[in-house]
Amino acid sequence: MTIPFVDLKAQYNSIKEEMDTAIHAVIDNTAFVAGHYASLFEQQFADFIGVKHCIGCANGTDSLEMLLKAMGVGPGDEVIVPAISWISTSEVVSTVGATPVFVDVHPQYYTIDIDKIEEKITSKTKAIIPVHLYGQPVDMPRLMQLARKHHLKVLEDCAQAHGAQINGQMIGTFGDCASFSFYPGKNLGAYGDAGGMVTNNDEIAKIARMIGNHGQQGKHNHLMEGRNSRLDGLQAAVLSVKLKYLHQWTEGRIVNANKYSELLKNAEVTIPTVIEGGKHVFHLYVIRTQNRDAVMQYLKDAGVGVAIHYPTALPLLKCYESRGYTKEDFPVAYAVTQEIISLPMYAELSDKHIQEVTKLLHNK
Ligand SMILES: *Cc1c(COP(=O)(O)O)cnc(C)c1O
Repeated sequence: MTIPFVDLKAQYNSIKEEMDTAIHAVIDNTAFVAGHYASLFEQQFADFIGVKHCIGCANGTDSLEMLLKAMGVGPGDEVIVPAISWISTSEVVSTVGATPVFVDVHPQYYTIDIDKIEEKITSKTKAIIPVHLYGQPVDMPRLMQLARKHHLKVLEDCAQAHGAQINGQMIGTFGDCASFSFYPGKNLGAYGDAGGMVTNNDEIAKIARMIGNHGQQGKHNHLMEGRNSRLDGLQAAVLSVKLKYLHQWTEGRIVNANKYSELLKNAEVTIPTVIEGGKHVFHLYVIRTQNRDAVMQYLKDAGVGVAIHYPTALPLLKCYESRGYTKEDFPVAYAVTQEIISLPMYAELSDKHIQEVTKLLHNK
C-alpha cells in the first residue's frame, strides 16, 4: 500500500486537456512575463477574493516582503508574527530590516493567540502578520479590533488558506493587505513558483507593483529602486485554469477532513478544531498524538505519506538562537510541535485511503 502525502499528478490528470491547451496558448503568444495572462489571472483572483487589486509576483515570500515594504515597514520597526508558521513569515520581517516579535499560538487552533498579542506591543510595533495556518482562519474581526486600537497595520499571510472565511467573509479582505503563495503544493498551486498580493488600498497596490517591477511606473520611468519579482505568463495561465476548480477542490478537502475526523473521533489522537464561524480549507489535516515520532514511523512503514508542519517553533530555530529564547517562552507552540502529524490531504484522496489511514491510527 502507498498513500502519497500529496498527489499533484492526479489533479493534473483530471484537467489535462484544458491545461495543455492553456499552456500552449501562452507559448504561441510568447507572453512569458507579466503581460496578458498575468493581468487576466490578477483580475480573476481579485474577483475571487473580492478585493480591488491583485498583483502577481514570483512567489509567496516576495509577496510578503514587498507588501511590508509597501506599507512602510523597515529598520527600527517591530512586526508581530505567530510562533508557528513556515519561516517566510518571520524571514521577510528581517529582510526589510525590521525585527520579528513572536507570539505563542492558540492551543486548539494553532494560529496566533490573540490574547497574547497585546503584551508584546511596544512603541516600535508597526504591524501584525496573522497566518491562517493549515487553512484555518484567524479570528480576523477580533484581531483587526486590536490592531486598530493600537494603530497597527495588518498583513494577512494567506499562503495556506485560499478561500478560507470567517463569519462568511473571505480571509485576505480584513487586513490592509494580504499575501498568497501559489507554490505547487498549496491549495491553489502553479507549476512552479508564483505569488500574489491583494489589497483594497490603492497606494499599497501602486507601490507593491512598482517594487516588483524595478520601481518602474511605465517603461523606463524608475521612480525608485525596486527588484524583479513578476508573475510568469505560463504560471498565470496554469492558475487561471485551476482557479475555476478551486471551489470544487476546496469542498473535496473539507469532505475528506470531515471523514477523517468522523473516523478518528474515538482514536487516541486529537483531531483539528475549526474555529466558530470559520471555514477551514484544510491545506493540511493535522492531528496531535503522544509518541509522535513512533506513530509517524509506524505510518511511514505502512506506506502512508506523512509530514510535520512544522517540527520546530519559529523562535526556537537555529537562525534565531542569538535571541536566546527557550521553550518556556512559547509553551503552547513547543508542545504542539512535539505532537503534530500532517496526514495525506487533497481533493482526490479516496475513501479507501482515508479508511486505511484511520484504521492504522486506531491500531497504533
Ligand atoms: C508557503 C508559505 C509561504 C511562502 O510562499 P512561497 O511561495 O513558498 O515563497 C509563506 N507563508 C506561509 C505560511 C507558507 O505556507
